[in-house]
Amino acid sequence: MIAGILKESGAENRVALLPGEAAGLKKLGVEVLVEKDAGEKAFISDREYIASGAAPSSRKDIFSKAAMLLSVNPVPEDDLRSCREGQVLCSVVNPAENGKWLESARTLGLTVLALDVIPRTTRAQAMDILSSMATVSGYKAVLHAASLLPRFFPMFMSAAGTIKPSKVLILGAGVAGLQAIAIARKLGAVVEVFDVRSAVREEVKSLGGKFIEVEGAKEDAAAGGYAVEQTEEFKKKQQELIQCRAVASDVVIATAQIPGKKAPVLLLKETVSSMKPGSVIVDLAASTGGNCELTQNGKTVVVNGVTIIGKSDYPSDMPTDASKMFGSNIINLMKIMIDKEGNLALNMQDEIINGTTAVHAKEYVSQRVKQMLNIK
Ligand code: NAD
Repeated sequence: MIAGILKESGAENRVALLPGEAAGLKKLGVEVLVEKDAGEKAFISDREYIASGAAPSSRKDIFSKAAMLLSVNPVPEDDLRSCREGQVLCSVVNPAENGKWLESARTLGLTVLALDVIPRTTRAQAMDILSSMATVSGYKAVLHAASLLPRFFPMFMSAAGTIKPSKVLILGAGVAGLQAIAIARKLGAVVEVFDVRSAVREEVKSLGGKFIEVEGAKEDAAAGGYAVEQTEEFKKKQQELIQCRAVASDVVIATAQIPGKKAPVLLLKETVSSMKPGSVIVDLAASTGGNCELTQNGKTVVVNGVTIIGKSDYPSDMPTDASKMFGSNIINLMKIMIDKEGNLALNMQDEIINGTTAVHAKEYVSQRVKQMLNIK
């Protein structure tokens, strides 16, 4: 099989596979083409791809020769018309937002592997792009907040006096939140954490954070380790307790999400107005509505001296390592999808392959995608 690594468009800096991972794909028996300058914004040259055995090619050649097209984001809708029946597109798809794109791909007879719907099972952990990108986001969010904060993170005892450590409040201790706790602690801040899943309590403690329990949280074993929507009574109690902690905090990193739903509103306008001027809120849930009432997706706003950053694209700001992780996840997925001859062999009985295949042979396959698009 021939696979092609495409250059991303717009503001995206990542690339689906770096040279090391392109070599990994070659080891699986796949011939690899790479669009010219595909790695440029991740600081990787065509020369490095050539050294890894990948052949730089024009976009047109890749579309006509490759059986599988690899990209970070879905290819632009115009490009779908350059595809031929049976061709495979492998990228993040965001089916809930891109239903029309997916329907066009289905009617054209393309196969779409949606990397963002890989089942979140133990076996699929090494293929989980959402986890690796959340790790990047949690890390970058803390560094961004620290660079804007008019104070130190760690405690300092100097001849000029003692500086108290900053207080960081983390809302949501999933993958991004746990990474944010680890980095904020490494920088010397005091960290407090809210989550509705009691399972994370021990993880938070082991990272040196203080877990603040709000009684009465609803949990559902059927939610596959994810949070579920809370009762109105719980939400009110939680918002009040968060307000108490936020007032004492210098930084809030908000990461709380509920799959397939709008993000829970945890920081009210009144909470922000009672926070110290100079404080920083980074809202990683911005693209799903935000955890702060004042968040604007893709924007930074300052309200009463509090900076609120609505940002969900940190991985693109750290393109080299984010691409490395993205590509490793793809290679681990390909290991279960490529046969000994280097051809794609989609065994739909395999729960990971079935769960990741959004459309194939003009049918919707993944149950999760069907649910997102309300398809029976
Ligand atoms: P996420 O992005 O959906 O949510 C982030 C966090 O927000 C979660 O911890 C959630 O409990 C929390 N949250 C939701 N509503 C909240 C509220 N009202 N108040 C406070 N916190 C709230 O989740 P994620 O980071 O993608 O993953 C969550 C969990 O899923 C992981 O911790 C893990 O258990 C599981 N997971 C498993 C795998 C795997 O096995 N392959 C991979 C990734 C995640």
